[in-house]
Amino acid sequence: MSEAAVNIDNLNVHFGGLHAVRDAHFSVRPGECYGIVGESGSGKSTILRAISGLNPTWTGTIEINGIQQTPHRPKSFYRTVQMVFQDPYSSLHPRHTIDRTLSEPISIFRLDRAEERVRSALERVGLRPSFRFRYPHQLSGGQRQRVAIARALILEPSILLLDEPTSALDVSIQAEVLNLLKELLVSSGLTMVLVSHNLAVVAHMCQRVAVMNGGSIVEETTADALRDGRVREDYTAQLLAAT
Ligand code: ADP
Ligand code: MG
Repeated sequence: MSEAAVNIDNLNVHFGGLHAVRDAHFSVRPGECYGIVGESGSGKSTILRAISGLNPTWTGTIEINGIQQTPHRPKSFYRTVQMVFQDPYSSLHPRHTIDRTLSEPISIFRLDRAEERVRSALERVGLRPSFRFRYPHQLSGGQRQRVAIARALILEPSILLLDEPTSALDVSIQAEVLNLLKELLVSSGLTMVLVSHNLAVVAHMCQRVAVMNGGSIVEETTADALRDGRVREDYTAQLLAAT
């Protein structure tokens, strides 16, 4: 049995008096897309931010590729784990060209073949090479999110954390970006953790799904069970009914 790509155990996050994540545990297999669903405020982003090193105030166990993580990550961590946010502007500087945005991690890590890496990252997300001369405001919302995904891929990480990656997009564009993520999942062997308040989005991408409510994972289920309405928890049934 190969080891988990991400293994979470007894994870807790407090913000002052708020217990935002409570005893969370789950395990993500290499090459799998693991889903986390739940209403707004249930603690989904807080879990991803703990995994990604963005929030250092957690307790418990986070293992990435078998390596136990501490709250503060070494620079090399970001060659393995990258995150995509709901708002592409979280990853794109509004006054930098796409080329500069994509080249920056390459120069931080002193990698060679910068131009080739930029070209290939754009190709992987379905954008023409000439897009590198544009600024974010010259792109559509879907194209901006594609660039944010390209930026997350530029260091060739093995794990991608996706926080509501399609929630800010027009409905017609959501499917395009989801299909791109699915292609990447199937073709590249990437491991993904996908967070969304939208059950349909998670069911499209993931087989195994954790359902969160009020900081706790109340149920771990599958996309098939969700589609068939076979759920154990009332809360999950309510989420299904609201979709
Ligand atoms: P979700 O992503 O499921 O919508 P979050 O993980 O963003 O939920 O938030 C979970 C809870 O933690 C919410 O009540 C939110 O207000 C709170 N929270 C999140 N981040 C912070 C923070 N940096 N400081 C204080 N409270 C926070
Ligand atoms: Mg969130």
